[in-house]
Amino acid sequence: MSGEAAVTLLGTKGGPAIRPGTRMPTATLMQMGGHTILVDAGLGVTRGICDAGIALTELDAILITHLHSDHYLELGPLLHTAWTAGLKRPVPVYGPDGLAAYWQGFLTSMAFDIELRIRDEGRPNLGALAEIKQIPEAGLTVGPVAISSLRNLHPPIVESYALRFECGGQSAVLSGDTAPMHDMVSFASGAELLVHEAMLTAGIDALCKRVGNGDDRLRRHLERSHTPAAEAGRIAHEAGVGALALNHLVPCDDPAFTEEDWQREVRRGWDGPIYIGQDGMRIALAPLAARVGDA
Ligand SMILES: [Zn+2]
Ligand SMILES: [Zn+2]
Repeated sequence: MSGEAAVTLLGTKGGPAIRPGTRMPTATLMQMGGHTILVDAGLGVTRGICDAGIALTELDAILITHLHSDHYLELGPLLHTAWTAGLKRPVPVYGPDGLAAYWQGFLTSMAFDIELRIRDEGRPNLGALAEIKQIPEAGLTVGPVAISSLRNLHPPIVESYALRFECGGQSAVLSGDTAPMHDMVSFASGAELLVHEAMLTAGIDALCKRVGNGDDRLRRHLERSHTPAAEAGRIAHEAGVGALALNHLVPCDDPAFTEEDWQREVRRGWDGPIYIGQDGMRIALAPLAARVGDA
């Protein structure tokens, strides 16, 4: 069965810290061509997938955009929990160099439990259920879904990717964590949906104060490695996408900033359909031609 193509924003918070009442770090579920692909596995991803009504055993592939913890802290626990939930087939996991070492380290840290469950419950070998691979320059396929990548601009990390998904005439692009970059315009060109990271520059002062244990380097990192909401809007406009969704919101747990602040900023560059991300938000992909009132 092919099912309706959709993108579900499982976690929409930028950055790794969570506090009472905050949303969860980054994870996004792509459903296309009857396949389910997870992009990033920040804290809360396992619960997020289940809350979206997807069995953990249904994942066909996982991609990790880069090795900041808010994008892969829960990868091991997710795969382990999928295993205890009945996962039998290997899941390809694509990501940057260093992901294999994380996975081996996770397996080592849980060796007592994993060996026990294999011996005591007859479970398959968990280590063999994740096939860790580099994201190939030439792109990759998951069933009928073609995935291409673009190295984005997320210093000091070099291996960090935007991803484009195509299947049966439908397309969606995830920016990953990135500063505004001109190449994103051509990479996202004509996509039905662009999910772009975004920050409110006015909120950075308060955020740095709240974190409390970093120094001015945190501010400099945010300013040179992430995208102001107005810029995300401009990129969507120039790329001519069908709709724009914002995720990886920075800040997102400051009551001084509301949905109206995001709307106002993004509208400086974009007048099309806009989704200010919320955890669990599901966005159906309708072909561009089918959009009513699309300019
Ligand atoms: Zn991040
Ligand atoms: Zn990052």
